[in-house]
Amino acid sequence: MRIAIVGAGLGGLVAAIALRRAGFEPVIYEQAQACGEVGAGIQVGPNAVKVLRALDLESGLERFGAIPEHHVGRSWKSGRVLFKSATRVACLERFGAAFYQVQRSDLHAHLRRALPADAIRLGVRCESVDAATTTIRFADGTHEAFDAIIGADGIHSMVRGCLLGPGKPRFTGVICWRGQTTADRLPPGLIGPDSLNWMGPGGCIVHYYVRPGELVNWIAHRTSDVWADESWSLEGDKDEMLKAFPGWHPSLITLMAATERCYKWAILDREPLPKWGEGCVTLLGDAAHPMQPFLAQGGAMAMEDGFMLAESLRATPEDIPGALVRYEAMRRPRTARVQLSSRARADICQVASPWKTFKRDVGYLYNQWFNPGAAVQKADWIYEYDVAAQMRQLRAA
Ligand SMILES: Cc1cc2nc3c(=O)[nH]c(=O)nc-3n(C[C@H](O)[C@H](O)[C@H](O)COP(=O)(O)OP(=O)(O)OC[C@H]3O[C@@H](n4cnc5c(N)ncnc54)[C@H](O)[C@@H]3O)c2cc1C
Repeated sequence: MRIAIVGAGLGGLVAAIALRRAGFEPVIYEQAQACGEVGAGIQVGPNAVKVLRALDLESGLERFGAIPEHHVGRSWKSGRVLFKSATRVACLERFGAAFYQVQRSDLHAHLRRALPADAIRLGVRCESVDAATTTIRFADGTHEAFDAIIGADGIHSMVRGCLLGPGKPRFTGVICWRGQTTADRLPPGLIGPDSLNWMGPGGCIVHYYVRPGELVNWIAHRTSDVWADESWSLEGDKDEMLKAFPGWHPSLITLMAATERCYKWAILDREPLPKWGEGCVTLLGDAAHPMQPFLAQGGAMAMEDGFMLAESLRATPEDIPGALVRYEAMRRPRTARVQLSSRARADICQVASPWKTFKRDVGYLYNQWFNPGAAVQKADWIYEYDVAAQMRQLRAA
């Protein structure tokens, strides 16, 4: 079976690995000349770790990833602790897998090592997809027919546009800066082993280690009326970034000021789609369900998609359209719920007025008083999910 995957992001790579384990030989077409994610952090929640476990790739994470002791919420100015939930031990006990925070390029390289070099064709841009003939037209003018095409080409997906028509993602009114700082550039003890979320009016700042004790990743969100380009590599102006957070806690300013380069981009999302595919062409990851980053689940959902898509094709290789419909039926409700929950979480993180901020923070303190250590994100239903269990259900059906 000839399977083409458009895009070598986390979703495309996991799909390719899972498909190979299911006995297929997919080829990934990636427009970038060199493979590798930009230097940025990513949180790999227990549900995503279980995808890696199902692919025998969990071991190795501990060599490069950090596991936070707690998730801690602090007030933007005073630093007062608003919530604190145990993470290291609690995730293992409650969800059966650890919670990692890693450098994207480390995770990307870890996944790439599970594929033969010729499984990824670099510097190949796909221009269009014809679902009726399952054909890709490439930027060099050539075209090729396949048995199945998977659009794993991210938020601005070309494949999605060809299947479902044009339509821009929605600017959410939030812009972000991100940066990384090596620990040796910071005062000793400034950043501990916890994952921090500083919550203010009109923004929040998250930071965590992506290499234990070595490299700190931070992301600073701010509400804004001004549209910015959605890109991981648009360099931001450090002074402009620091000016966007006047009065924020001095330790944050120290952290961000110690960063050599920062990047700026806009947060976009879409409404959940009514369908993802047509015939032998389908979508996964951000191409199908871009979401706001406030539950840190976009990459995790792309990885779950890739795994379940391969399992569905393994179950009925003789009926590709049927396998893709089944995949979509399994994945759409969950990813739509995560998309909408991320949006709801964004509203909490980006509360604008001081009065609403005060009410939110009192709510956190009240909850901590009566239920200390409870996870504030209410993400149990996300983290509990195990692709291996779902796969067993699929096989039994
Ligand atoms: C600020 C921020 C923080 C985040 N934090 C987290 C987090 O902590 N945890 C988490 O799970 N998720 C997080 N996410 C979300 C996560 O980054 C994305 O959901 C995830 O990277 C999507 O993966 P993907 O494989 O679907 O797409 P992408 O990673 O976008 O990959 C798409 C690939 O397709 C290629 N491509 C595009 N068009 C073409 C074409 N025409 N031809 C050939 N190749 C093409 C691109 O070059 C790219 O390599 C965050 C997102 C943001 C914005």
